[in-house]
Amino acid sequence: MTPVVAIDGPAGSGKGTMARKLASHFGFVYLDTGMMYRAVAYLNLSADKLSWLSIADFMAAVRKIPDANLRTDEVSLKTSTISKQPEIRESMVRLQREFAKNPGKKYKGAILDGRDIGTVVVPDAVCKLFITADVKVRAERRFVAIKQTNKQATFDEVYENLKKRDEQDSSRNIAPMKFDESYVLVDTSKETAKESFAKVVKIVENAFAAANMKI
Ligand code: C5P
Repeated sequence: MTPVVAIDGPAGSGKGTMARKLASHFGFVYLDTGMMYRAVAYLNLSADKLSWLSIADFMAAVRKIPDANLRTDEVSLKTSTISKQPEIRESMVRLQREFAKNPGKKYKGAILDGRDIGTVVVPDAVCKLFITADVKVRAERRFVAIKQTNKQATFDEVYENLKKRDEQDSSRNIAPMKFDESYVLVDTSKETAKESFAKVVKIVENAFAAANMKI
């Protein structure tokens, strides 16, 4: 089994924050695969260009883009649309597997989050988490976060954007976001971030112990 924690779940579920915290807690390296699809949409990278890139080249290009530019509503929706293209997904999956296989000497393993990590990218990951929350709760959390920046948005806009992406990401033909029994389901609707984190740390520890792997 690969020393990987695979995290999937819908937009705004807090999976990115959770993945980042888990990575620093366990000494794993983290890859935000949503950010990779966002960069492809933002830079208008063609499937042909992607097929030639290594993960190192790709990440070098991505690091030059300010994070805020990748997270606008416009880029989010465009990303959800381009990520339906099979040729683009093929290259992304290749790069993500390359990353998961070689976390680097100073890391004990890798944590990847996205929509198809446990189903397509690393189906044999030691631990697979599906992190979700009610769509209203997710929209409320995102709305609060947006209000703390100088971006303008109404609650309804945030809510509709999330719903539309949920719908696109789970109904597409190729690699849809899909929960199955190989995942541990974590519903954070009624929990604080601290409670969810404590719970997930235990789940990860148990999964590695069950696989007889030290972390
Ligand atoms: O995770 P995040 O919300 O940043 O992802 C942006 C978009 O990228 C998603 O709405 C989805 O369409 C796409 N994506 C994907 N597969 C992944 C990660 C993200 O299709 N593994």
